[in-house]
Amino acid sequence: MSYKLGIDLGGTKILIALEKEGGGIISSGKFPTGATRGVDSVLDNLASRTSEVLSHAGVSRHELVGLGICVAGFYDIRTRTIVSSPNLPGWEQFPLEQELKKRFKVPVLVENDANAAAYGEYLYGAGRGKKNMVNITLGTGIGGGIITEGHIYRGGGGFAGEVGHINVLPGGPLCGCGRRGCLESVSSGLAIAREGRLLLESGGGDLLRKITGEKGQLTAGHVFEAARNGDAGAARIIREAARFLGLALSFVVNILNPEVITMSGGMAQAGEQLFVPVRHYLKEAAIPPSGDMVSVVPAVLGEEAGVRGVLSLLEQYLKKL
Ligand SMILES: [Zn+2]
Repeated sequence: MSYKLGIDLGGTKILIALEKEGGGIISSGKFPTGATRGVDSVLDNLASRTSEVLSHAGVSRHELVGLGICVAGFYDIRTRTIVSSPNLPGWEQFPLEQELKKRFKVPVLVENDANAAAYGEYLYGAGRGKKNMVNITLGTGIGGGIITEGHIYRGGGGFAGEVGHINVLPGGPLCGCGRRGCLESVSSGLAIAREGRLLLESGGGDLLRKITGEKGQLTAGHVFEAARNGDAGAARIIREAARFLGLALSFVVNILNPEVITMSGGMAQAGEQLFVPVRHYLKEAAIPPSGDMVSVVPAVLGEEAGVRGVLSLLEQYLKKL
C-alpha cells in the first residue's frame, strides 16, 4: 500500500495528514509550531510528530511515496526557497524542499499555504464547479490564493495573490511586512483587536469593556460580539474593517473577474455580520459586470483546506515524475 503526507506549516500550528492511496485521509495530527525556537527545532519536531501520525495508523516510513507541504510565507518557485515569512522568523532563504527530501527520502512538493488552501476549496469546498475563484484567509493576518481556469495563479516568482498586502490606506497602521496601510493592517483580526483596545483607552465601548472583562484579553471576537449586541463604537470598528476589505476585494474583482470569492479563517466565523457589509462595499467599488456576478461566500473546509489542496497538488506532481 502507498501513502502520502500532507503538511500545513503555519506560524502558530502545524497540521499533518496521512492519505492512503484511494482511501482519503486516514490519520492526522495538530501541534504548536514553536516558531520562536528556530528552524532546526521546528523540523525535528515535525519529523517526530510525523512518526507519531504514521505509527498511529500502523504505517511504516517505507510505504510513503511523497510529501506535500504548504508553508506560511513567500516561497520562491524558481529557487525553491522560502524568501521570508513574517510568521516564521529565521526561515529566510531556507531551502525547505531540499531539506525535507534529505530527511524523508521521498519526493517533496512545497506550496504557499494560501495557494494550497485556495486549491483545496476549489476542488472540494465552496469553490467546487467554479473555474475562476479567489480564497481569502481572514485570521490574525490576511492571505489570498487565486485559481484561474482551474489552476493556481502563482505569477512569475510564486508571490501572486497577496491580497493582505494591498495598500488600502497609504500611511496607515504599520503592517507585519514593514509597510503602512496594507489591508492586513486595517482589516485583520489583529487590527480589529487593536482598534478595540484604542476604543477602550479613549473611554468608549462600554459593552466591549464588559465582554472583555468577563473573558480576558481583548480579541477581534469580542469586538464582533459587542457590535452584535449594540455597542456603537465596536460596530464602527467592524464597519471600517469591512469597508477596507470590500474595497480590496473590488480591486481583485476588477482585475480577475472571479465567479466566487470564498472567505475562511477565524474572522469568517462572524458570518453574515461580516459578509453583508463586505459584499456591500465590494459592490459599491467594483465595476458592475464583475461586481454583479461574483458571489462572496464562507469557505467550508476549515483548517483542512491547505492539506487537502497540497495533497492533490502532490498527486499531480508524482504522476509527472
Ligand atoms: Zn503588509
